[in-house]
Amino acid sequence: MKGLVIKNTGSWYTVKGDDGKVVECKIKGNFRLKGIRSTNPVAVGDRVEIALNQAETAFITHIEDRRNYIVRKSQNLSKQSHILAANLDQALLIVTVNHPQTGTTFIDRFLASAEAYGVPVVLVFNKCDILSADERHYQRQMVRLYETIGYECHEVSAATGEGIDILRPLLQGRITLLSGNSGVGKSTLINLILPEADLKTAEISDAHNTGMHTTTFSEMLELPEGGYLIDTPGIKGFGTFDIEPEELTSYFREIFHFSKGCRFNNCTHTHEPGCAVLKALSEHYIAQSRYQSYLGMLEDKDERKYREAY
Ligand code: GDP
Ligand code: ZN
Repeated sequence: MKGLVIKNTGSWYTVKGDDGKVVECKIKGNFRLKGIRSTNPVAVGDRVEIALNQAETAFITHIEDRRNYIVRKSQNLSKQSHILAANLDQALLIVTVNHPQTGTTFIDRFLASAEAYGVPVVLVFNKCDILSADERHYQRQMVRLYETIGYECHEVSAATGEGIDILRPLLQGRITLLSGNSGVGKSTLINLILPEADLKTAEISDAHNTGMHTTTFSEMLELPEGGYLIDTPGIKGFGTFDIEPEELTSYFREIFHFSKGCRFNNCTHTHEPGCAVLKALSEHYIAQSRYQSYLGMLEDKDERKYREAY
């Protein structure tokens, strides 16, 4: 029997069979996955095969190849990573221009790492109901910037319901990761889309902040019209640790576009003569905020190299 892993408690996995039946499973034997050392071999979003034995215990016997997956590196030094979810169709990044303010650095890092993981991102600007005229203006500029780069943007209010109906068809039949800083309205949005979920959001985040929540727990919320939402406590973005320096350019779409005109093909777009990215920046074809985010990620990598060398 084949199915989809919709919940992972750390010791049990809940699998929704293709026939609609929901089965609690354990894992059979020791799964070894190519290329990754992980503390959990199976994640929500995994397509699996299961076998039922006479004792009515079901075992996961096979995991299908993943289209993508997101990981969180474990805190200890074992260099093992924890797979948070697999086979995402898209991510909704919930941002707010105020209360709290989501910085462009955070947005750009999220977008770049999502590019690295091959996950399309839709930007959802929430709390439209409480924007001042200036904030509304700023939000319009942000929307224009990100739409120009090629990201779908929506302006909504989870409080009033404004714009929410545009999101529904977007979610239908897909596995969607819901992301964003704490306080931007993720839980309010889930409650609106999925009233029966009735999330006790404050409690969940408190438990997580004090480290009491098990880090292995993750769950997908099933949408009535088909599709799943992943709202795992603690996912703020994608891990960026496996982005190679040479690859970074390609994760900033517009920088990548202009980099094709650079004189050197290993151009870092910081000081090189004949750099088409620096030229585009000076001509305002590339936004300063985006370039600063790129530089920030570039510096991260230099730091990491330095750390690894010693
Ligand atoms: P989360 O941490 O991302 O899950 O955020 P919550 O859903 O817990 O929301 C944080 C706070 O913002 C709560 O007090 C919500 O009532 C409020 N909130 C969420 N969405 C909106 C919105 O669209 N407009 C306004 N005014 N408040 C909102
Ligand atoms: Zn360049």
